[in-house]
Amino acid sequence: MAGNDHAPIIGIDLGTTYCCVGVWQHDHVEIIANDQGTRTTPSYVAFTDSKRLIGDAAKNQVARNPTNTVFDTKRLIGRRFTDESVQNDIKLWPFKVISGPGDKPMVAVQYRGKEKQFTAEEISSMLLIKMKEIAEAYLGTSIKDAVVTVPACSTDSQRQGTRDAGVIAGLNVIRIVSEPTAAAMAYGLDKKARFDDDYVLVFDLGGGTFDVSLLCMCKPDGIFEVIATAGDTHLGGEDFDNRMVNHFVREFKRKNKKNISDNPRALRRLRTACEKAKRTLSSTAQTTIEIDCLYEGIDFYSTITRAMFEELNMDLFRKCMEPVEMCLKDAKVDKSTVLDVVLVGGSSRIPRIQQLLQDFFDGKELCKSINPDEAVAYGAAVQGAILDRKCANSRIIQDILLVDAIPLSLGLETDGGAMNVLFRRNSNIPNRKTVTLSTDSDNQTSILIRVYEGEGTRTCDNHLLGEFEFCDIPPAPKGAPQITVSLGIDADGILEVSAEDETTGQKKKVILNKRFYFTR
Ligand code: ADP
Ligand code: MG
Repeated sequence: MAGNDHAPIIGIDLGTTYCCVGVWQHDHVEIIANDQGTRTTPSYVAFTDSKRLIGDAAKNQVARNPTNTVFDTKRLIGRRFTDESVQNDIKLWPFKVISGPGDKPMVAVQYRGKEKQFTAEEISSMLLIKMKEIAEAYLGTSIKDAVVTVPACSTDSQRQGTRDAGVIAGLNVIRIVSEPTAAAMAYGLDKKARFDDDYVLVFDLGGGTFDVSLLCMCKPDGIFEVIATAGDTHLGGEDFDNRMVNHFVREFKRKNKKNISDNPRALRRLRTACEKAKRTLSSTAQTTIEIDCLYEGIDFYSTITRAMFEELNMDLFRKCMEPVEMCLKDAKVDKSTVLDVVLVGGSSRIPRIQQLLQDFFDGKELCKSINPDEAVAYGAAVQGAILDRKCANSRIIQDILLVDAIPLSLGLETDGGAMNVLFRRNSNIPNRKTVTLSTDSDNQTSILIRVYEGEGTRTCDNHLLGEFEFCDIPPAPKGAPQITVSLGIDADGILEVSAEDETTGQKKKVILNKRFYFTR
């Protein structure tokens, strides 16, 4: 494929269990399906005597090749071999992890007849290459640049590890974005934010990890700030699959008097069927499991209802509500002040979980119009478009880009040249603020209203945007007249200043034709 300067910037969600890639195209985000026609790709890499497999091809052969099929390596990124979490994870994995130079964890596999060792960054780079190729096949051009997401509570070394994976993959990672921020951006919630204390709760229940993040908008220097996180590093869809697997192992035992749990290949086939059934049960009330020759030539056919699936998992579903409560408590935020609740992660498609969450928020509608397992890649693609100068002419991108905040504090001059700030720097727009002014001397019939921008406490250090005189105030003792001055900034960034005498009802309005657009 020829190099192409006009290639877009793609957005990649490098997930623990699934990856997803999106791109901004024709004024919308396209989530790109892989060669299997699915829009998320398993985070699996497998090594055989002859080749390397990535994604579905790797996951499909795991039963035959368990020790050389690598998954979950996101859990190793930016960590040391001796870290407690790494030691605990290793115990659960069928593939080998050893200590490499500088205590770096290395995955050891047999590849083309030799033992090979890879860092987690190298394995992740293989996944990034796969996602890049999926995008290239769809776009018909080679890709260089990507926005890649990382979990909200990633350390610097985990972020750096993700960057390194990009470098190894030959991708220019132009921005690392936190997953909940990307999901919130997917919904354009950054545009919606008006007030300093608008909170968005992101509920991300994936394949093996659960992250709840509380974001606050409108803080200086960022679209969103993650102010609290909670969760469970080992809770997700795979646990729900396991419950169903155990259920069918018991059923098989009952029906056939045989225990399939000593046969890894049978278990793996059953697990694959269970994951599929679980997905189906998110949209139907009942489904079937059909596996030919599951164990000792015995076929296994069964059905499962959504109610049964819920019963098998109810304690886990309830457990998912605890971090939500904890996150709000840590941030000292009341649930009633949460502006939006965003569903992220494939497992948040489960209707019962949505119900529990909605009940917790007293019936609030949840944000789920974007597929939860695609929301992070979606937001990463939006971020990619924002950073892509070639998208600068898109009306929609301009809206996302520009309608957000004022770059400098705005205020009025008061007593002896002090700056009375009405809008703090980075306040979101549209916005409106009102103050009441009065006269400084007896029988004063006019006051001068002067609007300044800047961070100085004295107006002489700031920039005068405009002024107007409010006249015909009826004579009165100083301080008696009540002149209400209101500053409004509309969505286009136009500042309007109006003044009204409360006693006479006299009004005066000026439009200061200044655009306060500000790109963060
Ligand atoms: P990651 O955890 O890697 O970020 P995802 O957000 O894609 O990955 O979540 C993957 C999990 O979501 C898997 O356990 C998968 O089985 C589950 N999942 C995907 N679609 C559905 C669905 N329709 N109903 C229930 N679970 C689903
Ligand atoms: Mg995820």
